[in-house]
Amino acid sequence: MTDRPIAGFINGLWTIPTDAACSDVMNPSTGAVIGILPHGGARDVELAVEAASRAFIDWSARPVSDRAKILHRYRMILAEHQEELSRLICLENGKTLEEARGDVLRGMEVVEFACNIPHLLKGESLPQVAEEIDGITTREPIGVCAGVTPFNFPVMVPMWMFPLAIACGNTFILKPSEKVPLSANRLAELFLEAGLPDGVFNVVHGSRDVVDALCTHPGIRAVSFVGSTRVAKQVYETATRHGKRVQAAGGAKNVLLVMPDADLDSTTRAVMGSAFGCAGQRCMAGSLLMGIGSAADAMRERVCGALDVLKLGNPLEEDGVGMGPVIDGDSRDRLRTILESVSQDKTQQVVRGRCPEPDIGYFLKPALVDNVRPEQPLFQQEAFGPILSLVRPTSLDEAIAWMNRLPYGNGATIFTSSGAAARDFSRRIHCGMVGVNVGVPAPMAIFPFSGWGESFFGDLHVQGMEGVYFYTRQKVILSRWDRGYIRKQGW
Ligand code: NAD
Repeated sequence: MTDRPIAGFINGLWTIPTDAACSDVMNPSTGAVIGILPHGGARDVELAVEAASRAFIDWSARPVSDRAKILHRYRMILAEHQEELSRLICLENGKTLEEARGDVLRGMEVVEFACNIPHLLKGESLPQVAEEIDGITTREPIGVCAGVTPFNFPVMVPMWMFPLAIACGNTFILKPSEKVPLSANRLAELFLEAGLPDGVFNVVHGSRDVVDALCTHPGIRAVSFVGSTRVAKQVYETATRHGKRVQAAGGAKNVLLVMPDADLDSTTRAVMGSAFGCAGQRCMAGSLLMGIGSAADAMRERVCGALDVLKLGNPLEEDGVGMGPVIDGDSRDRLRTILESVSQDKTQQVVRGRCPEPDIGYFLKPALVDNVRPEQPLFQQEAFGPILSLVRPTSLDEAIAWMNRLPYGNGATIFTSSGAAARDFSRRIHCGMVGVNVGVPAPMAIFPFSGWGESFFGDLHVQGMEGVYFYTRQKVILSRWDRGYIRKQGW
């Protein structure tokens, strides 16, 4: 535990809000307090907007190749600090080292994408669009942008936003989850090391007060949000009402559909990774396992077998840890309550892993709940923890109909050896990210992270070209240069 409060980062300086309320930052694997976080408020947002607005004048005017060079350096520095960042994620989030390395790697892929910014920003042109008139389009940065992020991917999710926004010529204010502020601070520090000018990237810590100030401040042009559906909706409504463009990604209920002809070994590995990776705290976590025909019993047997050997523990202290803790005591208690209420319903059966729950930290034995029906809360609501429901539709048609009744629309995967079943599923399912024999169909940085329904509010998603469009506005320039002028000059 450090005695020093965790500072925010404004205009290149570490800044601690005065007279602020504080919260504890915990190591979820031990329950120990590892830092004290003073929360900022409207005054801190004001200072950050002032700094970011000043920095925008020069940063937006810099040649795009200069901006790309800084991103290239940032990519190299991140690679040098990959392991350090991964361990920091383990410390404040509790996920396993392998999962934390994936978190960093996926974030770095966005920086790699953003390094291509000279190419990504190129517009269109059409000479002689009318007599002696040429037309071109350009993409220009929009100004100060803000990002609000959740606890579950302390590096990757912030990096869905700020590298691309900054590469496009904007300046940025990040409000990370108050549960995982350390990774965000390190990302800011390393960007400065790469040569980013002061004020281009700022971090303001806190919770609702900071978010409200970001959503309403007239100096902020765009807000990117990732978190629960309830807050995503609220941020979308408030920030759009205040004239900002908004992309707000929310919660999810993702389906893993197993057909009778699926390869059971690879499917079991994919299902286990999807449902219990990051202790189920992923917006792309498969939480509804649907088995058609013989696949339901086969998957039940295999998942139960795999749960028995899934080792829980502190990823920084023990080897062979397969699953870390959930983020805090509130989450663990909420998940326990869900399992208690499910246990009282005799139509459903709860099977828990056999590995012991460590007696310190916020661990919860993973669970499979068999015979969940579409009208039950566990089918409909995001649990966001290591609880997998086994659902037994009688046909592919019934499975798709049940899935399409869900309000969310993040991810869905089919496991099959049939191209026809895969094609039918991919075409008819109502969600934005579809997997075929892929447990977590989370798109790489060149594609948009494409949630639908209650999983996304807005138009342009994070990542890929949609990210570039979100952080820029387009201009169409029509020019007429009259050839008569050349003749008049006698040239
Ligand atoms: P959360 O909604 O509680 O918090 C997200 C952010 O919003 C945090 O920075 C938090 O400080 C802030 N916040 C919380 N309550 C607020 C309020 N009332 N007003 C304004 N701001 C508020 O989410 P979480 O618990 O940190 O993360 C888990 C959720 O995020 C899950 O629902 C998960 O599915 C979702 N998520 C979605 C995606 C996606 O791409 N769709 C990705 C990752 C996580």
